[in-house]
Amino acid sequence: MQLPSSSKSPEGPRDERFDGLIRMARRQFGVLAVLLTSGDQDRQRFRASAGPIAGDALQDLHCPPPAGIQADALLLVADTSRDEHLRNHPLTKALPELRFLAACSLRAPDGGPLGLLYLLHDQPRELDAEQQQGLREFAELVAALLVREEADRRELECLRESERRMALAIAGSGTGIWDRNALTGEIHYSSGWKALLGYTSDEVGNRIEESYTRVHPGDLAYVQASIQAHFDGRTEAYEVEHRLRCRDGSYKWVCSRGKVVERDAAGKPVRMVGTTSDVTAMRALSEKMQQTAALMTDLTNEIPGMVFQYRRQVDGQSSFSYVSIGVRDIYGLTPEQLVQDADVLHLIIHPDDLAAYLGSLEASARDLKPWHQEYRVLLPGGGATWRQGDARPRPLADGSVLWHGFITDITERKLIEAELQVFATTDSLTQLSNRRHFMQQLESELARVQRSVDYRAVILMFDLDHFKAINDRWGHSVGDLALRHFSAILCTQLRRTDAAGRMGGEEFAVVLSNASVDEAMIFAQRVQSELASAPLAHGDEHLALAVSVGIASLHPTDASAEAGLSRSDMALYSAKRAGRNRIECH
Ligand code: GH3
Ligand code: MG
Ligand code: MG
Repeated sequence: MQLPSSSKSPEGPRDERFDGLIRMARRQFGVLAVLLTSGDQDRQRFRASAGPIAGDALQDLHCPPPAGIQADALLLVADTSRDEHLRNHPLTKALPELRFLAACSLRAPDGGPLGLLYLLHDQPRELDAEQQQGLREFAELVAALLVREEADRRELECLRESERRMALAIAGSGTGIWDRNALTGEIHYSSGWKALLGYTSDEVGNRIEESYTRVHPGDLAYVQASIQAHFDGRTEAYEVEHRLRCRDGSYKWVCSRGKVVERDAAGKPVRMVGTTSDVTAMRALSEKMQQTAALMTDLTNEIPGMVFQYRRQVDGQSSFSYVSIGVRDIYGLTPEQLVQDADVLHLIIHPDDLAAYLGSLEASARDLKPWHQEYRVLLPGGGATWRQGDARPRPLADGSVLWHGFITDITERKLIEAELQVFATTDSLTQLSNRRHFMQQLESELARVQRSVDYRAVILMFDLDHFKAINDRWGHSVGDLALRHFSAILCTQLRRTDAAGRMGGEEFAVVLSNASVDEAMIFAQRVQSELASAPLAHGDEHLALAVSVGIASLHPTDASAEAGLSRSDMALYSAKRAGRNRIECH
């Protein structure tokens, strides 16, 4: 029988890898045609054939294999004309002169059906045992190839899937891809790249010269310089942020990254691939953050004083995590110095105020109440200056406490306060305590007398004699000088613990601390004799002054200082009545 040399094959997914094998089988068994199908028992798919098989007829070989084929079985139909079933089988249409059919099932290693290998002939014939064995071996070979092919197909599908996912991810991330031929100046962009700038697929040319026209003129020079640096091998990769013109004429900030992936023998770049990502939103965000950070720095650095963040750990260790530049004026330190070691403050805070300073922080941490403290600091060459600290504590999860607050310079305020204090407590003419302040001093003396049985205090009231006459004779201003003259004499007799005050007009009071009435008598006599021996000089004249004195001791039973004062007042009245320039005790 003459066999046709070429095999007609149907359209469709025929697989050339099997062709050689099929042709070999045809020669080996000396049959008119060999056919390979894949699929299971219910559905067969044409894969390859050798011999004059009408491919068109096989295109729809969606039919079950000939009846009678079993697992591992070899179906042999010596004369198909006698086989009722095969007479209407599509195979008969594909090969009308079919008279002999042998079909061997193809099995996967796990026994699953893979397909069938047919030997077809136009004469009735038989296959001896050796030929049957040969057919089985052929079938095994084809099965192995089918299994391999299936594995390859799956692997390819996986690759395609991951490639598809990657493409989607790149498109979704606002990134485009480009591929540039450095020799020809040709550049190709992915559709994602074009979409990034709002172009459709055919709106972007593939010349590098055109690409550069889309780069913002202000960025072009350094974009080109960066590419050149990479071409010259001076950088590992090309990466630059710049603006690109969109289809609508607006500019987008992009990050362009790329790498030469091929160089010629001389090292000249041939091919470069890269990505372009939209970083407009990111740049806007980072600009906003920079502005916020700048505002924060301005706020903390420009407001007078020192802004800080301070943290105290459970173990008592503390540190400044942030200190504004104001620390220079507040503590004479740099921010770094204080951040590095918070304990340097122990040497800067006035020794008399340090315990209160530390204690107040301790209390704020314990009670989680706002910290407020006024204290002095000793700065080189600055003497003692006043600082005020205010901060809010916040407990942290690890048990530590975090304060945010500020320190201000209150030296000036403290000076004013001190001035006001003097103003509020002293008599402006004589600089002695005014009546109100003297009464406070007297009250605290009384409190001391009431606290301790051994403690005594005496009060003396002084009233200048015939003072009205001095005013009348010499004038009011000379009267003022006389009042000052007397208060100066009074002060020379005072101990540090005694207090003196002007009670009004030409009346003065003294409280001698821890003193007896006798001691008070001596004090009063000294004042009188000093006054007598030192008349007020006025021009050529000497004005003689005299004073009457009333003495009374403070009693522990006194309800108030007023009681003692009124007793001394009564004694003074007696002294006046008895002729003036006298001392009387209550
Ligand atoms: P006596 O011996 O009884 O105390 O007589 P006196 O004149 O000192 O007492 P009197 O109470 O009659 O007069 C007190 C005078 O002191 C009346 C008043 O004008 C005067 N005086 C009160 N305050 C001032 C002052 O601040 N400056 C001057 N220059 N005189 C004052
Ligand atoms: Mg008087
Ligand atoms: Mg008087």
